[in-house]
Amino acid sequence: MRITNQREIILEELRRLKTHPTADELYEVVKKRLPRISIATVYRNLERLSEAGIIHKLEYGGRQKRFDGDVRPHSHVFCVRCGRISDVDTVEGLSVRAMVLDPKGFEIIEGSLQFEGICPECQKGNSLTTN
Ligand SMILES: [Zn+2]
Ligand SMILES: [Zn+2]
Repeated sequence: MRITNQREIILEELRRLKTHPTADELYEVVKKRLPRISIATVYRNLERLSEAGIIHKLEYGGRQKRFDGDVRPHSHVFCVRCGRISDVDTVEGLSVRAMVLDPKGFEIIEGSLQFEGICPECQKGNSLTTN
Protein backbone atom coordinates (compact mmCIF):
# COMPACT_ATOMS: atom_id res chain seq x y z
CA MET A 1 0.00 0.00 0.00
CA ARG A 2 1.31 3.38 -0.97
CA ILE A 3 1.49 5.90 1.82
CA THR A 4 0.06 9.24 0.74
CA ASN A 5 2.50 12.00 1.40
CA GLN A 6 0.27 14.67 2.86
CA ARG A 7 3.04 17.23 3.00
CA GLU A 8 3.82 16.81 -0.68
CA ILE A 9 0.19 17.34 -1.61
CA ILE A 10 -0.09 20.40 0.63
CA LEU A 11 3.04 21.84 -0.97
CA GLU A 12 1.87 21.02 -4.47
CA GLU A 13 -1.50 22.71 -3.96
CA LEU A 14 0.07 25.75 -2.32
CA ARG A 15 2.48 26.17 -5.23
CA ARG A 16 -0.37 25.85 -7.71
CA LEU A 17 -2.40 28.60 -6.04
CA LYS A 18 -1.28 32.15 -6.70
CA THR A 19 -3.60 33.63 -4.10
CA HIS A 20 -1.41 33.37 -0.98
CA PRO A 21 -4.10 31.35 0.83
CA THR A 22 -4.72 31.17 4.56
CA ALA A 23 -4.41 27.72 6.15
CA ASP A 24 -8.20 27.42 6.05
CA GLU A 25 -8.39 28.27 2.36
CA LEU A 26 -5.66 25.77 1.57
CA TYR A 27 -7.41 23.14 3.71
CA GLU A 28 -10.54 23.48 1.54
CA VAL A 29 -8.44 22.74 -1.56
CA VAL A 30 -6.34 19.93 -0.06
CA LYS A 31 -9.47 18.25 1.33
CA LYS A 32 -10.61 17.52 -2.22
CA ARG A 33 -7.58 15.27 -2.67
CA LEU A 34 -7.26 14.06 0.91
CA PRO A 35 -10.82 13.88 2.24
CA ARG A 36 -9.71 12.67 5.67
CA ILE A 37 -7.06 15.28 6.36
CA SER A 38 -7.66 17.55 9.36
CA ILE A 39 -7.16 21.29 9.55
CA ALA A 40 -4.61 20.69 12.34
CA THR A 41 -2.52 18.56 9.99
CA VAL A 42 -2.59 21.29 7.36
CA TYR A 43 -1.52 23.89 9.95
CA ARG A 44 1.26 21.70 11.28
CA ASN A 45 2.65 20.95 7.83
CA LEU A 46 2.53 24.61 6.81
CA GLU A 47 4.46 25.57 9.95
CA ARG A 48 7.09 22.90 9.31
CA LEU A 49 7.43 23.85 5.65
CA SER A 50 7.89 27.52 6.51
CA GLU A 51 10.40 26.75 9.28
CA ALA A 52 12.37 24.77 6.69
CA GLY A 53 12.25 27.73 4.31
CA ILE A 54 10.40 25.71 1.66
CA ILE A 55 7.45 28.10 1.74
CA HIS A 56 6.95 31.60 3.11
CA LYS A 57 4.61 32.64 5.86
CA LEU A 58 3.15 36.10 5.34
CA GLU A 59 1.81 38.18 8.19
CA TYR A 60 0.76 41.66 7.19
CA GLY A 61 -1.20 44.15 9.19
CA GLY A 62 -2.01 41.72 12.01
CA ARG A 63 -4.19 39.69 9.67
CA GLN A 64 -4.58 35.93 9.49
CA LYS A 65 -1.38 34.26 8.34
CA ARG A 66 -1.12 33.53 4.65
CA PHE A 67 1.24 31.24 2.83
CA ASP A 68 3.27 31.61 -0.34
CA GLY A 69 4.70 28.66 -2.27
CA ASP A 70 6.99 30.97 -4.21
CA VAL A 71 10.13 31.66 -2.17
CA ARG A 72 11.95 33.64 -4.82
CA PRO A 73 12.38 37.24 -3.67
CA HIS A 74 9.35 39.17 -4.81
CA SER A 75 7.18 41.99 -3.58
CA HIS A 76 3.60 41.95 -2.38
CA VAL A 77 0.65 44.29 -2.23
CA PHE A 78 -1.68 43.75 0.69
CA CYS A 79 -5.32 44.89 0.87
CA VAL A 80 -5.91 46.83 4.08
CA ARG A 81 -9.64 46.01 3.96
CA CYS A 82 -9.84 42.27 3.31
CA GLY A 83 -6.24 41.05 3.73
CA ARG A 84 -5.94 39.72 0.19
CA ILE A 85 -2.31 39.56 -1.03
CA SER A 86 -1.05 39.74 -4.61
CA ASP A 87 2.41 39.55 -6.09
CA VAL A 88 3.57 42.76 -7.69
CA ASP A 89 6.33 43.19 -10.17
CA THR A 90 8.75 45.96 -9.45
CA VAL A 91 11.15 47.68 -11.82
CA GLU A 92 13.56 45.12 -13.15
CA GLY A 93 17.20 45.63 -12.32
CA LEU A 94 16.39 47.89 -9.41
CA SER A 95 17.84 46.12 -6.42
CA VAL A 96 15.92 46.61 -3.21
CA ARG A 97 19.26 46.17 -1.45
CA ALA A 98 20.55 49.33 -3.10
CA MET A 99 17.71 51.28 -1.46
CA VAL A 100 19.03 50.67 2.05
CA LEU A 101 20.86 53.76 3.27
CA ASP A 102 22.24 52.31 6.50
CA PRO A 103 22.21 48.51 6.89
CA LYS A 104 23.04 48.85 10.64
CA GLY A 105 26.07 46.64 10.29
CA PHE A 106 24.17 43.88 8.53
CA GLU A 107 25.33 42.41 5.29
CA ILE A 108 22.10 42.56 3.31
CA ILE A 109 21.54 39.45 1.21
CA GLU A 110 18.07 39.93 -0.19
CA GLY A 111 15.06 42.13 0.16
CA SER A 112 11.50 42.68 -0.93
CA LEU A 113 8.89 45.39 -0.64
CA GLN A 114 5.42 45.37 0.83
CA PHE A 115 2.77 47.69 -0.48
CA GLU A 116 -0.56 48.41 1.10
CA GLY A 117 -3.65 49.16 -0.92
CA ILE A 118 -7.29 48.44 -1.60
CA CYS A 119 -7.93 45.48 -3.89
CA PRO A 120 -10.25 45.61 -6.92
CA GLU A 121 -13.03 43.74 -5.08
CA CYS A 122 -12.95 46.13 -2.12
CA GLN A 123 -12.91 49.11 -4.49
CA LYS A 124 -16.15 47.77 -5.94
CA GLY A 125 -17.44 47.50 -2.40
CA ASN A 126 -18.40 43.87 -2.68
CA SER A 127 -15.71 41.91 -0.93
CA LEU A 128 -17.17 38.79 0.63
CA THR A 129 -14.11 38.13 2.75
CA THR A 130 -14.76 38.59 6.42
CA ASN A 131 -11.33 38.17 8.01
ZN1 LIG B 1 -9.71 43.78 -0.45
ZN1 LIG C 1 3.97 36.04 -3.27
